[in-house]
Amino acid sequence: VPPTPLQTAKINEQSELALLRQLRRRAARVASPGVRLGIGDDCALLKVRPGEEMAITTDLSIAGRHFRLDWHPPEVVGHRALARGLSDLAAMGARPIAAFLSLALPRELTAPANTRSTQSWMSRFLDGLLGLAAVHHTQLAGGDLAESPLPVADIVLVGAVPAGCALLRSGARPGDLIYVTGALGGAAAALHRLALLAADSDDDTVPPKLTAKMQSALAPHLHPQPRIAQGLYLQRRGLAAAAIDLSDGLSTDLAHLCEESGVAAEIDAHAPPIWPGATLSQALDGGEDYELLFTARPNARVPRKIADVPVTLIGRITKSGRGKPSVALRNGSDLQPLIAKGWEHFS
Ligand SMILES: [Mg+2]
Repeated sequence: VPPTPLQTAKINEQSELALLRQLRRRAARVASPGVRLGIGDDCALLKVRPGEEMAITTDLSIAGRHFRLDWHPPEVVGHRALARGLSDLAAMGARPIAAFLSLALPRELTAPANTRSTQSWMSRFLDGLLGLAAVHHTQLAGGDLAESPLPVADIVLVGAVPAGCALLRSGARPGDLIYVTGALGGAAAALHRLALLAADSDDDTVPPKLTAKMQSALAPHLHPQPRIAQGLYLQRRGLAAAAIDLSDGLSTDLAHLCEESGVAAEIDAHAPPIWPGATLSQALDGGEDYELLFTARPNARVPRKIADVPVTLIGRITKSGRGKPSVALRNGSDLQPLIAKGWEHFS
């Protein structure tokens, strides 16, 4: 006898409760002192220190747009979903407190994948997300779960920063110098390699098997590291005049910063630190490096490394002008507009 719609709803409700219980149990393993009450009540209760402001950011990860079930292992999807939000907190110089996760998944992704694997896609997604959350002491303080034909993860991140001290996109002035952390283009280069591996794989319904060696070579795309420590360092020392994280690519994100600050920028063509094996175009236009780009007054003493990550001077802020490109690439005396090539994800 097929179940009536009411019975079906009841079964779904029960398994949803079990899944939420699983989420709660696992979330409790990463605690943040800023969370007074986590999952379990109608709301979470967060506390910030006296004199702090809250920094809040939200990010959608949609299958087919931000990740692909046939390219990305679930742990990678979870890691990357949280990394995007943490990177936004880093760009503001905020310390992370809590994450909230709304997950909409097809039923089969919440059940064990097959007889060989006892873990569901959802459980492996949480492995990736909570692994990165533990590194940054960010508690998963709330979650919701729904059945959906299309996998979607919506993440809200809450952080705190001393009032008036957040790093903003709008603080750059002509004469400021432009710096980036880490190396650029690695994520775009790795994504290109991952796409080739997926195309070569025998089974095109699951992600290609990645050895530990391959995983480490593809790390900039699979496991981007949000620059929380670097953002906090810049904020606490008042070193940065303006900052943004590189999620869409240097050419696009620097244009955003210039727009918000009402300035223009010049990048020295040979200055950007390029990830080994990446091209200049991947470094300038490739998205998802999640490094920080910041400006500092010319007399600011910016260190060459912050928390073990190199910091590189790549150009300067100039006055904006009518008909003048907001971002230009300088090669000796030659100055070419650097067109913002927006990151198009997997569409
Ligand atoms: Mg951002």
